[in-house]
Amino acid sequence: MAWANENLEALANSDGLTKIGNRRRFESFLTDEWHRAIRFKTEISLVMIDIDHFKLYNDTYGHQAGDDCLQRVAEAFARAIKRPTDLVARFGGEEFAIVLGGTDAAGAIQIAEEAMLNIRELRIPHRASETSEYLTVSAGIATMFGKFELSEIDLIEAADRALYIAKKSGRDRIHTYDQMTGAHHDANPLAAPNQTGPPRVYQ
Ligand code: GH3
Ligand code: MG
Ligand code: MG
Repeated sequence: MAWANENLEALANSDGLTKIGNRRRFESFLTDEWHRAIRFKTEISLVMIDIDHFKLYNDTYGHQAGDDCLQRVAEAFARAIKRPTDLVARFGGEEFAIVLGGTDAAGAIQIAEEAMLNIRELRIPHRASETSEYLTVSAGIATMFGKFELSEIDLIEAADRALYIAKKSGRDRIHTYDQMTGAHHDANPLAAPNQTGPPRVYQ
């Protein structure tokens, strides 16, 4: 009955609506990758992505359309990762996480940009959004070296803070925090040229 156990395990680790990894899968995967980063002295990155104005989306198009949208968004994010040390999971509600084991800030930005581009290409109408006529997302990235004096919780908190800054700076953008350099970077790399200002660098 090994297959039955495997099926149960897959069910316990996947999100019922979107079929990607759920919060439990996220936590165990992140812990494993965090320990691997310590062992192999590599960096690890975490991307937290939150759909912009999703309450308004539900209010405008209905909860069922909101559920359909979450499925499409999850599928689009899942297409952005390539390695066995990467994971896309539903962190909760309309918030997603991408764990990137052994990946530096530049690599994480590349994946986050691809994830955002995939969403942009879906061109999901969102007429109530003040950010764009289409559905947009905001992303916060944190990159750290695995160290014994830190934990994966620190990585989650740093990515959460970066996401908060991305929201506050106008949504539909990526905010990056690299612990190695202490640098913050705010960019909307996919925006039309007339919407982008010079990249802001906070030190
Ligand atoms: P912000 O741009 O600041 O992120 O605004 P927001 O409206 O996206 O954020 P807020 O936290 O106010 O609302 C999140 C919304 O996501 C409200 C909730 O109903 C919706 N949501 C969360 N989980 C689900 C779900 O499983 N299905 C549907 N349809 N909606 C969901
Ligand atoms: Mg949101
Ligand atoms: Mg949210």
